[in-house]
Amino acid sequence: MAKERIGIMGGTFNPIHRGHVIMAQAAMEAVSLDRVIFLPDGQPPHKTGIAPAEDRWRMVNVALSGARRMEASRMELDREGTTYTYDTLIRLRDKLSKASLFYIIGADTLMQLKTWHRYEDVLKLCTFLVCPRNGGPDADELLAEQHRLAKAGGKIAFVGMEPVDVSSTQIRAALAQGREPAMLDPMVGEYAAACGLYGPPRVQRAAEWMAQLYDDLTFKRFVHTLGVAYSARELALIHGLDAARAEGAALLHDCAKCLALSNMQWIAYDNKLTADRSILSSGALLHAIVGRWMAEQVYGVTDTAVLEAIEAHTTGAPGMSPLAMAVYLADKIEPGREAYPLLEKVRETAKRSLVQAMILSMEGTAGYVEKGGKPLHPRTLETLAWLRNQNEKTGG
Ligand code: ATP
Repeated sequence: MAKERIGIMGGTFNPIHRGHVIMAQAAMEAVSLDRVIFLPDGQPPHKTGIAPAEDRWRMVNVALSGARRMEASRMELDREGTTYTYDTLIRLRDKLSKASLFYIIGADTLMQLKTWHRYEDVLKLCTFLVCPRNGGPDADELLAEQHRLAKAGGKIAFVGMEPVDVSSTQIRAALAQGREPAMLDPMVGEYAAACGLYGPPRVQRAAEWMAQLYDDLTFKRFVHTLGVAYSARELALIHGLDAARAEGAALLHDCAKCLALSNMQWIAYDNKLTADRSILSSGALLHAIVGRWMAEQVYGVTDTAVLEAIEAHTTGAPGMSPLAMAVYLADKIEPGREAYPLLEKVRETAKRSLVQAMILSMEGTAGYVEKGGKPLHPRTLETLAWLRNQNEKTGG
């Protein structure tokens, strides 16, 4: 059987950016790698200004969530003190004895290789794949270095690709100024900016909430949550609403979603949250009501508008606020949403009119639920009637 060919991307990933993923993809294609493992560094005790290891870990996972054949490992992250690539490669070689290892680096890193701990031994453990980098060494310097390292036993190959003009330093600077860098995955940007990893936090308690949500939700649901927060903020900015409130409500909208139905029911009975049997028997509906309760009791939210938005995000509610509409719609149009027939139309309409987008989206949901042979909850029908009325009165 042919040996598995594994790419390794080491880095601080403070934060991970699109350049990292693009170079991994290019390396994968260039030498037919089977997969690439990202290895975020641990927390060097003497280094300051680096986001906490857990945050960088979560962002790496979020950035790779849509990437095929790319994964992250905690191997370096969980090691105490200074982590040497030599030790990592030895461990990988022992663990993956049947694989060939390819270490993917930028051209700037190639020039530093000779300073690495036991670099001559490192050279024997893997092939280095070098990606070009703007502002890095020129072609002559790179070739000279390749030659020098080859003499020491190194296997150094250059990946033929256009340089990707981005660095984590640039991304941190942009985030600190409240900008949204193009070379950052929107969900990673949402995580970093909401928590305030590189500037003031956009949502006061987001750092604490993220840790809890990351533990309580499935990973897929966590990524979806970031997408909803991203879209809710965008809609809030377009429609002149309080963006931090929309973002906060969106972060917590599914906080109860991954509880077992029996747990949700227990919370609902115990706290007399609803007597509605059709809601009590459906996790798809009940999680919004229990989510409101959890947002208040567990996450410490006191803002009624935020709590109402969380509660209204499944069935809607007659009289719901524009903030609640922004959260409801964000859930339907977030960047990671799988395509459904009305998706683009709802996205476009939401930019112009929250009410009209709500009508469109709810009509779509109604059709979908009815097609599945399930009854639509009366509250959705009441909400639709109220929205149509609003639309007629105000013209949207
Ligand atoms: P910082 O700006 O904080 O120094 P960085 O953008 O260089 O960060 P790291 O996490 O330190 O990111 O990089 C991990 C690896 O990816 C390194 O080998 C680095 O050379 C390489 N790398 C990062 N960005 C690029 C890029 N745009 N082009 C080529 N290589 C890159």
